[in-house]
Amino acid sequence: MDPDTFRREAHRLADWIADYLAGSRKYPVLSRVRPGDIAHALPTAPPAAGESFDAIFADFERVLLPGITHWNHPGFFAYFAITGSGPGVLGEFLSAALNVQAMLWRTSPAATELEEVVLSWLRQLIGLPPAFEGVIYDTASMSTLHALAAAREVAVPAVRAKGLAGRAGVPRLRVYCSDQTHSSIDKAVLLLGLGQESLRKIPSDDEFRMRVDALASAIREDRADGWLPIAAVATVGTTSSTSVDPVAEIGEICRRESMWLHVDAAYAGVAAMVPGYEAILRGAEQADSLVVNPHKWLFTPFDLSAFYCRRMDAVRSAFSLTPEYLKTVEAAPVRNLMDTGIQLGRRFRALKLWMVMRHFGVDGLRARLGEHMRLARLFASWVDESEEFERLAPVPFSVVCFRAVRKGLDEAAIERLNERLLETVNQDGEIFISHTKLHGRFALRLAIGNLHTTDADVARAWELLQARARRF
Ligand SMILES: *Cc1c(COP(=O)(O)O)cnc(C)c1O
Repeated sequence: MDPDTFRREAHRLADWIADYLAGSRKYPVLSRVRPGDIAHALPTAPPAAGESFDAIFADFERVLLPGITHWNHPGFFAYFAITGSGPGVLGEFLSAALNVQAMLWRTSPAATELEEVVLSWLRQLIGLPPAFEGVIYDTASMSTLHALAAAREVAVPAVRAKGLAGRAGVPRLRVYCSDQTHSSIDKAVLLLGLGQESLRKIPSDDEFRMRVDALASAIREDRADGWLPIAAVATVGTTSSTSVDPVAEIGEICRRESMWLHVDAAYAGVAAMVPGYEAILRGAEQADSLVVNPHKWLFTPFDLSAFYCRRMDAVRSAFSLTPEYLKTVEAAPVRNLMDTGIQLGRRFRALKLWMVMRHFGVDGLRARLGEHMRLARLFASWVDESEEFERLAPVPFSVVCFRAVRKGLDEAAIERLNERLLETVNQDGEIFISHTKLHGRFALRLAIGNLHTTDADVARAWELLQARARRF
């Protein structure tokens, strides 16, 4: 692409993106295509001759755009609502242009050092001590995988050299989490060769927090049965209801039992920067590792997960491995990011987070997180006042779990009613919400996290839910 064409098309894209970010409201939030529609609308083989960007972009709008579910839509309330904010999008654009691989310090000193600086900024904001070293991965799933790999490295002698299978003298390993924990913990134990049976899910209390007494007795029982407990995962902001596990108490048990404590704060960790919310990470300062996702609730385009570890040496001893062609000598000791993870090449992700943090400033970030929590409390208050709906969990952050109810309906009928309600409101195209199960009960879930979401959007969601529910 010659420079003039690039300039022209980049300007056009900039205009398109500016309109999109300001006006995504005009699209149905949940894509209406059926399975196969997009694939069938595209040629089965690549073009033999190059095509103009005009033609390519026309197809983006005509074919692909209808197949987009608009995560940047102010009516997106499903899963965890997110925002790819302007400064974050610009950071991605620039990062793609530079196209650096920050595997070694010398392959882009700025990428390595900016990552250290922005992760230190974020660490201070959420109140973790300097003993935590940070590294950026793509997702929380990857961060947790590295945490548990480090736990395995520390607990099993010579696991790096000898692995696990077929070894005498290595008992079966146990990892603990609650029954509310994210599936990424299951996937991590699968990948680390511990097997799914190694993960013991501790029951949660009536506010969906891990029961510490049940954890303690599970560990006792497992030790008696010959298991070796190696780690516990505490969650701050569980995926279903955003409950907060008693991290400090779980941490005490981990210290006593010489187990690794990993804190999964993928969604809610950022809330610790909001005045009055510091306590949500109480006890996390004692953890071995913690993950928080700026791509979830800090206005940074997907993907960017921040992994903090007090024992990054354990991550290094699990993963660092330098082939001859990557050996370097610098004027002073440097950090090579390829040593703290499984990936060799890595994108310059820190750039977008740096732009986001500078654009909003600390006060701006705090104000917006606080606003999202205010909107969630507002919605929860409407649910609480209503005779036709009930709330199913506390609202510590920006997610509300609730359901429609009717006098005289049994549990199964209430579940069917809510399944149909979910289906119908999502078909309307103005809002998109998702669901979960909380201790067996089907719950609708409204999550606020988009910068464009206003009081009016939340009120509209409530109006639609009530109107649709009354039709059944
Ligand atoms: C979203 C979420 C994850 C997974 O995040 P990815 O970055 O998509 O891997 C893990 N844990 C919790 C608590 C989450 O909310």
